[in-house]
Amino acid sequence: MIKRAYKYRIYPTKQQAAYLNEVFGCVRFVWNQLVANFNSWTPDGPNRPMNEKILKDMPEYSWLSESISYALQQKRIDFDETKSQFFSKNRKKKLGRMKFKKKGIARDSFRIPVASMGGLKSIDLKNGRIKLPKMSAMKMVVDREFAGNPKSVTVSKNKIGQFFVLVLVEEEVLIKTSVGRSIGIDLGLNHLVTLSSGVQVENPRWFRKSQAKLRKEQKHLSRKKKGSNRYERQRRKVAKVHLKIKNQRSWMIHNLTTAIINTFDTIIVEDLNVAGMKKLFGKSISDATFGEILRQLEYKSNWYGRTFHKIDRWYPSSKTCNCCGHKMDTMTLDIREWTCPNCGSHHDRDLNAARNILDEGLCDLYGFTSDELADYKRGEEVRHASMDAFFCEAFRLFCL
Ligand SMILES: [Zn+2]
Repeated sequence: MIKRAYKYRIYPTKQQAAYLNEVFGCVRFVWNQLVANFNSWTPDGPNRPMNEKILKDMPEYSWLSESISYALQQKRIDFDETKSQFFSKNRKKKLGRMKFKKKGIARDSFRIPVASMGGLKSIDLKNGRIKLPKMSAMKMVVDREFAGNPKSVTVSKNKIGQFFVLVLVEEEVLIKTSVGRSIGIDLGLNHLVTLSSGVQVENPRWFRKSQAKLRKEQKHLSRKKKGSNRYERQRRKVAKVHLKIKNQRSWMIHNLTTAIINTFDTIIVEDLNVAGMKKLFGKSISDATFGEILRQLEYKSNWYGRTFHKIDRWYPSSKTCNCCGHKMDTMTLDIREWTCPNCGSHHDRDLNAARNILDEGLCDLYGFTSDELADYKRGEEVRHASMDAFFCEAFRLFCL
């Protein structure tokens, strides 16, 4: 069984939107009270007990009972989980001090179990309606249906005031039929993705266009006076472009990773130190969202029964000649093409790296010697010579 999220836009009426905003506020309030209580700890004695029920019973906070109680309860459960993570000795990276959620800055959202909504009938996919506790049904745009068992619903609002529900569904794993083809993938700044089969995918032009628009709008914003009406109007404009970029990127990455999963059995990548790379290259790396691509490839491989393998981060995939194995001493980032001094092969930097990643991964996985590796790859190529056209078709979308 796997858990999969389905996101739908909802259209609450004015009254419903006001109520949802109220619930966002109450949930934030409960979280902040729990954090305040937790942070007030002193060595002299334990914290006073605190949960959503205690808060509701306080006369000054009685308004909390107008909210959806399951949402408050869920927030407290989330808090308890964070707290146990805070004290956990197994965590690699310690959690910092618990933070308050500020209105207007923190994401507006709340989560409730589907069981609390009266079960399945509360989510009506046929008629596009969803009914939350204490509310009348809301219109929901169903662009794709789910077949599994819904577990929880998260209601959220984005920075430009659109409302969404995210339904977490438990589904059966769908194993895809084997195609018998492996691929090595190099992620880079020059080409977003380079496949060892020779296909290179760049950030599409429409995506770069949005980024240019964002820079323009941000420049305008910096010239407006903070707090003025014009500033507020411009801020919404910038938020809108941000949102568009976010959606475009998410759409692009999902299509890309799904196309890769559909066309290959064995997917081999380099284990990137994304945090370290961000420090080295600055913002452009976070734009390319390598981490997200790897994350999606990994979980989709699990969903569909593909083999996903990360090779060692220190393997010199860029510096090694794929033809003869000669290793260069240095290879600076600005070198896009190079010629091997040992065998004379001319390489595209990224493609050579992707091929090395494939070879290294296959040797890792199956323990091949170099002769066995060559045989294995030849077999795959003979069997699937026609498939390269198929990948190109699947990726053409991104190269426009
Ligand atoms: Zn060489």
